[in-house]
Amino acid sequence: MKSGQVHGTSGQNPGMNNSLKRSPDGRVGILDITDKIDLSDELKAYHNHLENLILERTEELRYINEQLQKEISKRERVEELLRREKERFHNYIDVVGIVILVLDIDGCVSLINQKGAELLGYDKGAIIGKDWFSNFIPEDEQNNIMDAFSNILKGHFVPNLENSILTRFGKKKLISWTNVPLLDEQGCVIGCISAGEDITDIRSSQEKLQKHADDLKRSDELKLLFIDILRHDLLNPANIIKGYSEYLLETMGNEEEKDIVQKIHQQNEKLIKIINSASMFGKLESTEMICFEELDLLELLEKVSREFLPLLERRNITLECYASGSYPAYANPVIEEAFYNLISNAIKFSPQGGRIVLDIMDGGQSWKVTFTDFGIGIRDEHKNFIFKRFKRFSGEGVKGSGLGLAIVKKIVELHDGEVGVYDNPSGSGSVFWIRLNKIQPS
Ligand code: ADP
Repeated sequence: MKSGQVHGTSGQNPGMNNSLKRSPDGRVGILDITDKIDLSDELKAYHNHLENLILERTEELRYINEQLQKEISKRERVEELLRREKERFHNYIDVVGIVILVLDIDGCVSLINQKGAELLGYDKGAIIGKDWFSNFIPEDEQNNIMDAFSNILKGHFVPNLENSILTRFGKKKLISWTNVPLLDEQGCVIGCISAGEDITDIRSSQEKLQKHADDLKRSDELKLLFIDILRHDLLNPANIIKGYSEYLLETMGNEEEKDIVQKIHQQNEKLIKIINSASMFGKLESTEMICFEELDLLELLEKVSREFLPLLERRNITLECYASGSYPAYANPVIEEAFYNLISNAIKFSPQGGRIVLDIMDGGQSWKVTFTDFGIGIRDEHKNFIFKRFKRFSGEGVKGSGLGLAIVKKIVELHDGEVGVYDNPSGSGSVFWIRLNKIQPS
């Protein structure tokens, strides 16, 4: 249809009704509706355009909505993860054996773990938000702790702090704290995180131990003093008796009286020996510092053996030494005392006319010094006891104090060495042995 060429009457084209108008006298005229048709077309086109636009926007919105939904579910997953992490963190800080405390910038509690709450004797809820210093620190310590807190907030280094906290039941608990400032995203200090260890029991045990150590030291010093006094005061009269008895033995003519003086002299000698041994043992037990040097064991053995020559001669005992050469060991000269006691025992428990053999064997890192006698031997059940103080199992008539082997053991232990005894494989008698380090043990 061409514009401007529309003809027709009412009823023929109802769509054209609006184009026909009647004149006031009833006649029907033809109206030009070209513009209207153009408008309608435009409207249609616009309508189509709008519809397309709506479709486009709807599509866009649908896409955006889809993306949003995805984002929301992603966030929900992250939130869930964060929630679980937070729960795990809380569980973790609750089970650790230390107190975890977070204070805000005003010193109020933002977080405390289960351990902290238990220590204080409250529920967590009753602690959170409370002023830490006025509620949980004993009054006399508050100022110090508040000073330390403000230094932490200023970013100053505060070394580990020790302070008491006050429990609900009025008890003090000593806590050792490690503190770090709590920073926000911009790096500004917004509080303080502290980890604290309850050291109440440790500190009281330490104090008890220290007191015990002090007591021990004092009693050790007293023991040493006592030993010195005892030795001095006992030896003095014993030496006077020795002098007089020796003088009388030389000058007296009467054999019967001389015999009595001889017995006094012998008993006095025994007394002097016991005093010396006891004092030596007491000192060894309390000696902490002992200096070591390189000593030749064979030289020491020979030196000690020479002291026994008169006795060996009197008892007609031969002393042989199989060792030759040099045997450097890391030792203190007190080791001579151990050699002396073992040779003395070997002679004491050997028969008249017996034989004693000394030897030194190479044991790799150490020397093994042996003292072999062919005397009465030692029963197996006694071997473990003879190194203990005052244990004696000798036969009738053999003098002794029961201290000699205890001294030997102590001296050898001070050298980080070993001592022992076994039966002489030749049949009768015993073999005592000492193991000593060749060089300084690392
Ligand atoms: P003491 O000889 O002064 O009694 P010791 O401590 O030196 O003290 O010896 C303890 C005991 O060990 C002795 O009484 C003795 O029974 C036993 N004993 C030590 N050395 C020997 C030895 N060479 N032979 C046999 N027994 C010994």
